[in-house]
Amino acid sequence: TPGATLSFRLIPYSENLWLLVARDVSRLLQLEQMRRDFVANVSHELRTPLTVVHGYLEMLDPDEHPEWAPMLTEMQKQSQRMAQLVEDLLTLSRLESQEGLAYEEPVAMAPLLATLRREAEALSQGRHEIVVEDSAGVDLYGSAKELHSAFSNLVGNAIRYTPAGGRVAVRFRPERGGAQGVVLEVADTGYGIPAAHLPRITERFYRVSNSRSRESGGTGLGLSIVKHVLHLHQARLEIASEVGQGSTFSCHFGAERVRPRLLEVS
Ligand code: ADP
Repeated sequence: TPGATLSFRLIPYSENLWLLVARDVSRLLQLEQMRRDFVANVSHELRTPLTVVHGYLEMLDPDEHPEWAPMLTEMQKQSQRMAQLVEDLLTLSRLESQEGLAYEEPVAMAPLLATLRREAEALSQGRHEIVVEDSAGVDLYGSAKELHSAFSNLVGNAIRYTPAGGRVAVRFRPERGGAQGVVLEVADTGYGIPAAHLPRITERFYRVSNSRSRESGGTGLGLSIVKHVLHLHQARLEIASEVGQGSTFSCHFGAERVRPRLLEVS
């Protein structure tokens, strides 16, 4: 078939014979593209009506309408959640359709780490010990916006899945064992993730416990976004976790993503 996309597999057949199997995967790719387009179109269409509903709801002050206060507060919370879900779906569609990064730039890590600290403090509201360490002393090269969104998702999860009194640490450090490259690590002393769930944890909407995750206010798309952002930076996500002890999410960047830090921003 002209224009078809073929997938080839080499399978051992006997001692000195191999089988070459060619499969036409054009239809599969086409269906995958249709799925992506559908999700992107629906999310896009939902964005405007949701913004209007959310905007008007935000204008209503529950304190001025005591009889509706519980309902108003819940409606505001849920419309905020829906708006976040639509934004995350759009982000994911955009990331999935990208072959590489559209724009690359030096990403100053000192201000980015300071922003992550502020975000963690705002989410935690004093309930956790928050540590931010920067021992790498270099900057990254890539998309500042996408990297911020990935790291921010990891920090948000660490706070949301760690009970009060726990500790959340963000470390930007050199790769260990003499390897080149750097690691952005987010470690928590939270609930942890059972080993059986780890292989699927970065799939969209995959959750360990539905009730806890829903209560936490997430959209179920955070780790999928992290995975795609890292993939676009040729970086690798490593997850170490123990139930009841905590989790560590490490983003490993190769030497080609490292830039000397020229300017210290205080
Ligand atoms: P969500 O919006 O549900 O948090 P994510 O994709 O960010 O979606 O995470 C997927 C699931 O992985 C979460 O529902 C939660 O069960 C688990 N998870 C993610 N981060 C952590 C963490 N730091 N500690 C424990 N569980 C986590």
